Amino acid sequence: SASTVKLQDIDPAKVSVTKTTTPKELVPQNELVFGRSFTDHMLSLEWTASEGWLPARITPYQNLSLDPASCVFHYAFECFEGMKAYKDKQGKVRLFRPTKNMARMNKSSARIALPTFDGAAMIQLIAQFAAMEERFISSTRGYSLYLRPTMIGTQRTLGVGPPGSALLYVIASPVGPYYPTGFKAVSLEATDYAVRAWPGGVGDKKLGANYAPCILPQLEAAKRGFHQNLWLFGEEEFVTEVGTMNMFVALKNKQGQKELVTAPLDGTILEGVTRDSILSLARERLAPEGWIISERKYTMPELAEAAKEGRLLEAFGAGTAAVVSPVRNISWKGNLVECGLRPDQEAGEITRKMLGWIEAIQYGDEEHEWSYVV
Ligand code: PMP
Repeated sequence: SASTVKLQDIDPAKVSVTKTTTPKELVPQNELVFGRSFTDHMLSLEWTASEGWLPARITPYQNLSLDPASCVFHYAFECFEGMKAYKDKQGKVRLFRPTKNMARMNKSSARIALPTFDGAAMIQLIAQFAAMEERFISSTRGYSLYLRPTMIGTQRTLGVGPPGSALLYVIASPVGPYYPTGFKAVSLEATDYAVRAWPGGVGDKKLGANYAPCILPQLEAAKRGFHQNLWLFGEEEFVTEVGTMNMFVALKNKQGQKELVTAPLDGTILEGVTRDSILSLARERLAPEGWIISERKYTMPELAEAAKEGRLLEAFGAGTAAVVSPVRNISWKGNLVECGLRPDQEAGEITRKMLGWIEAIQYGDEEHEWSYVV
């Protein structure tokens, strides 16, 4: 209505910066553990329902002070993103497809009645923050700065309703290569007793509440000697995702055509940025070689049959942390479905190619519109 006050959106020009007086000692490269150590600073923005987004602050990394009644603690008003900053050979810091992460975060926050924001403005702030933490980023292949944008509802209330206040913050963790000594193919256990996501649910959103319930099935799989669990859906046993990665399989279909397959975005699949990148590169670079690139439903029985007939060529997970993670086999109904690797092989040809192609763009060896120079 005409009387509605326009709420403030994010204005990157209004950021205030307070630098730390106690810079941290860098963790030696070979001792980096994913998500264990953090940089000197953090980026924070508060939002209120009456004013909108307040000016951003970059401050020393510090504890939050929250009322125990804050709605995040009771009703899981939390969503997050996972993205990385890389350093190229010239020393320039680069983000990889940050627009995708901001768009996804806005979809996640909107779904749980948290505020949305101007993604382009937020990217400018994240870029400024990443540039400040430049000394934590190594240009060595495999090294990067993992960025964790997080939004929480902060309103002090036990009433179940839309949060009247929120906090958006970004922390950063220097990370090393997922496979320090080269690819290691993993063994998966198909989970048949628990479901990660369902049609009409929120499994396609990056809500913290989606992740805690996934740990137990992972522990169960680990107890039986598997590296990860594979999420299936429905009586048909559709293959959906692997742990916290999107799943791809390369196979020869019954017509003898080579096909790269991943599940479609039907609401049960997180819209992975890596997934989208792989599909796009595959359509550009594999399709001309005769590959069919499919976003379609596929099932465990289909994979088991393809494996039995020698048509399953390779399988891999895809996500920001590892880019690609090759799969050796899948335990399903008491059988091991072998995913096309020879015993002496740790990754298939498509898996290797994809890692090379994507890293070349991330580290700026290949100029590409996906790489955002800070
Ligand atoms: N699926 C799930 C459930 C995830 O948590 C992630 C990690 N964000 C992915 C897939 C991969 O997404 P991305 O390529 O954007 O990292």
